Amino acid sequence: MTQPQPYADRRDIGHYIAGERSDGAGARRHDVFNPATGEVARRVVLGEVADVDAAVAAAARAFPAWADTPPIRRARIMQRFLQLMNERRDELAAIITAEHGKVFSDAQGEVMRGIDVIEFACGIPQLLKGDYTDQVSTGIDNWTMRQPLGVVTGITPFNFPCMVPCWMFPIAIAAGNTFVLKPSERDPSASLYMAELLAEAGLPAGVFNVVQGDKVVVDALIAHPEVRAVSFVGSTPIAQAISERAAQFGKRVQALGGAKNHLVVMPDADPDMAIDALIGAAYGSAGERCMAVSVAVLVGDTADRLMPRLAERARALKIGNGLDPQAEMGPVVTRQALERIEGYIALGVEEGATLVLDGRGHRVPGHADGFFTGATLFDHVTPEMRIYREEIFGPVLACVRVKDFAEAVELINAHEFGNGVACYTSDGGIAREFARRIQVGMVGINVPIPVPMAWHGFGGWKRSLFGDTHAYGEEGVRFYTKQKSIMQRWPQSIGKGAEFAMPTAK
Ligand code: NAD
Repeated sequence: MTQPQPYADRRDIGHYIAGERSDGAGARRHDVFNPATGEVARRVVLGEVADVDAAVAAAARAFPAWADTPPIRRARIMQRFLQLMNERRDELAAIITAEHGKVFSDAQGEVMRGIDVIEFACGIPQLLKGDYTDQVSTGIDNWTMRQPLGVVTGITPFNFPCMVPCWMFPIAIAAGNTFVLKPSERDPSASLYMAELLAEAGLPAGVFNVVQGDKVVVDALIAHPEVRAVSFVGSTPIAQAISERAAQFGKRVQALGGAKNHLVVMPDADPDMAIDALIGAAYGSAGERCMAVSVAVLVGDTADRLMPRLAERARALKIGNGLDPQAEMGPVVTRQALERIEGYIALGVEEGATLVLDGRGHRVPGHADGFFTGATLFDHVTPEMRIYREEIFGPVLACVRVKDFAEAVELINAHEFGNGVACYTSDGGIAREFARRIQVGMVGINVPIPVPMAWHGFGGWKRSLFGDTHAYGEEGVRFYTKQKSIMQRWPQSIGKGAEFAMPTAK
């Protein structure tokens, strides 16, 4: 594995507007922590309405020329960006570890999954191809084309500061839109790093802009008359509020929300595979993944067989600074997150769940002030408990015991969230039935974290997604474009002079 370099930039993290870094209009700042040490590493500028106005104006100025640039030339800039991202991916991963806390190998994985979407966006000429019908009536042809919307915006969460923005801007930009990104204020540096790589790749100034900040910036972006579409990823209450607000302003919106992902273990599942899957998917990234498994649904006798081994594996997890190559799980993102997670553990005990392993108060030598909590495992969790119903977003696995497959499906389908789900079994009939009956957007059969690849699109069901289209893939292309249908008749043909050179895209 590449040895990660600590990230040492100490400047205030500002905006990126019209190709320039800027500290913007206001004086408000927000602390950005190194979660492994608990120290304030840097401060991020919190934008004001004037910064949103400046960024949207830059994006609006850049739009006509960018939208008119042939898709293949836009794709070539994406290809150069793809190359730069591949060359510098470890630098970007080190930035993510420094501000988010996740272990370096996990940050590298996040960057790779972002790169996958950039690679998909390089195929934009093919993706924008329309449909054509010859002779819909005598002498008349009809075709459809997809055109960009204009200025579009993305508002992203802390847990994937590279990958989630990459679900949005590569496709939006390749399709001819211009973009304003509002990253999470908890780990904002990756956004500026990518903005500078885009500029290095040859992207014209104003096509991609970043405004740092909080609710002030988000509200101003949604209300701005020049902003045509809003993509949001974050917690469910904010996703719902944003989708409703964007709809009031007549904006196209997709808002991806929170999750409570179940992993069903059938009695015929391979126990070693199931335990590996549960440990990795519950505790990887300290449970701060929207596709993390937070509920194990143990069918029949599996709980009695698996619980001792699960507890042993969870207890043995190596927890440490994300830059330590031995660490399997890093800290959580902030002290507030730590307190919220440990509050839920206390609540689980009050609610009567069996606390098999208590991660509270975990200490990592040399990191006394780091935001660490250990792996927590609950057994005998029931559907009425808040630790079952609510998203904890930390390394807490709740085990629910059910008698059979039908009860497992009923339990999951009754949950308000429907982001990801997995079923471990060796029975093809059960697997097929599960995939067909389950009311969840992304399903894994013997795959614990079924995040779809770049060309398939990502999205949950129920209160995990507000809006009709999923992120990235062909649904992403549709979200960032609008269809136009053209019907044409030519009474007489128009002549033109001869050209002798091989025609090329101009
Ligand atoms: P969050 O909802 O707190 O923040 C997300 C974004 O919204 C940030 O940019 C934040 O600055 C902004 N924001 C926060 N409060 C706001 C407000 N009142 N008004 C307007 N904007 C506001 O989410 P988070 O803690 O950064 O991320 C974790 C959450 O994101 C979890 O719930 C997780 O499940 C979810 N998530 C979902 C997906 C998915 O694909 N469904 C992916 C990643 C994360």
